[in-house]
Amino acid sequence: MPKQEPRARINNFQEVVLGYSEEQALTEASRCLHCSNAQCIKGCPVGIDIPEFIKYITQKNYTAAIAKIKEKNSLPAICGRVCPQEEQCQKLCILGKKGDPVSIGRLERYVADFEQEKGIKTPKAAPSNGKKIAVIGAGPAGLTVAADLAKLGYTIELFEALHAAGGVLVYGIPEFRLPKSIVKAEVDYIEKLGVKLTPNALIGRLFTIDDLLTQRGFEAVFIGTGAGLPKFLKIPGENLNGVYSANEFLIRVNLMKAYRFPEYKTPLGIGKKVAVIGGGNVALDSARSAKRLGTEKVCLIYRRDKTEMPAREEEILNAEEEDIEFKFLTAPIKFVGNDEGRVKALEYLTMELSEPNASGRRKPVPIKGSETIMEVDTVILAIGRTPNPIIQSTTNGLKTMTGGIIIVDKNTGQTSLEAVYAGGDIATGEATVISAMESGKIAAKSIHEYLSKKQ
Ligand code: FAD
Ligand code: SF4
Repeated sequence: MPKQEPRARINNFQEVVLGYSEEQALTEASRCLHCSNAQCIKGCPVGIDIPEFIKYITQKNYTAAIAKIKEKNSLPAICGRVCPQEEQCQKLCILGKKGDPVSIGRLERYVADFEQEKGIKTPKAAPSNGKKIAVIGAGPAGLTVAADLAKLGYTIELFEALHAAGGVLVYGIPEFRLPKSIVKAEVDYIEKLGVKLTPNALIGRLFTIDDLLTQRGFEAVFIGTGAGLPKFLKIPGENLNGVYSANEFLIRVNLMKAYRFPEYKTPLGIGKKVAVIGGGNVALDSARSAKRLGTEKVCLIYRRDKTEMPAREEEILNAEEEDIEFKFLTAPIKFVGNDEGRVKALEYLTMELSEPNASGRRKPVPIKGSETIMEVDTVILAIGRTPNPIIQSTTNGLKTMTGGIIIVDKNTGQTSLEAVYAGGDIATGEATVISAMESGKIAAKSIHEYLSKKQ
């Protein structure tokens, strides 16, 4: 896959991966064996008919290819870019047993981009069945429920707390991995299906779930409010200036466009030495964003080793190419400030891994006396996120588990309340775009069955 050169790309926020040419897409598609019992489909959480869409590519019938994908997935240009295909469809591709699997994600991206370039056709709106459903949160889960139910003729109002739809796709994942114009085009498509998007609407404050069901005429509600609350290390110095949660840092960079300051009015003091704590996609996105903001040195600090990093392999490689330093088996224990209350250093312990526990995972254990000081002027904490709590605390009878995750029936997405469904990170804890979409599809089907029976 062609990419921007590392030296060039660390100076801009444009997309790193440039996408296949037609010739490359045709060559890649021609590798597919069109297996009769295609395992790749089983690896796709939303069940796209992969060999069929690839067959259309080999016939240069890109319109039919994208239509086939959209039967199951309303956000293909997004999924083609950020889905962990290496853990899903491509992991099960038969060609992967002896060599490289078919690059299914790259082909999905090729046809989705083809469609966006040609102009996405306005889908025919389904005739209304007169029933109103409220969807809360316009991330991948909410967008999927909204699209699937709109296609069935429901009147959907999609309430979003922020001024833009997309959830993590717009406020978390940076422009250089997922251009916001791509997200906007897919959100526009969903609006064209007839979905009414209401931004700047914080449910739990503006209306409660009860208000929506009893006073505002909605017959069912879907909660897809994600896991937007950052976790902290709870160590001394965490409230010093210059210590950011990855959420705040990435929202400033992506949603508020701090990288285009002063054109956009969000400044971001970044300093020369940045430490990012964590080993997942969020940590890598933060580190690579910091690099592009012009800082001299970015060091990613992770308490386990490289093999245990939860981030996508492709993104680890991209970060290495961009001169992000990695410090493994390292855990901060304290942040040290200067006289003005700004972070100037962090103290860390070196770790070693224990023998594997019952789940097979090795625990990081501190090495005694290994305390070391590292000078930094910015720290970004990317150690996990928990669910947004407002709806749970304002909805009587809504059952949650520890950490505020809403309890749902996995087969239907139904919560402890009648007519109230939930899915995505709010019901699973932080996961992936496609798993949020999968739970959205399950909930949309159940809401349809519930309202059909009720009638
Ligand atoms: P979200 O995307 O969080 O959307 C929830 C929406 O609900 C938000 O727009 C929020 O503003 C809104 N909301 C919250 N509370 C309310 C309320 N009370 N009223 C109204 N609206 C509300 N996954 C991948 O598969 N691949 C990746 O490469 C990847 N990279 C990531 C990088 C980052 C920086 C982050 C943070 C996550 C990444 N993920 C990735 C994870 C993935 O983005 C999430 O799992 C997914 O977005 C969850 O979707 P969701 O719809 O449940 O929630
Ligand atoms: Fe093609 Fe691989 Fe799927 Fe077989 S498993 S149909 S080769 S993508």
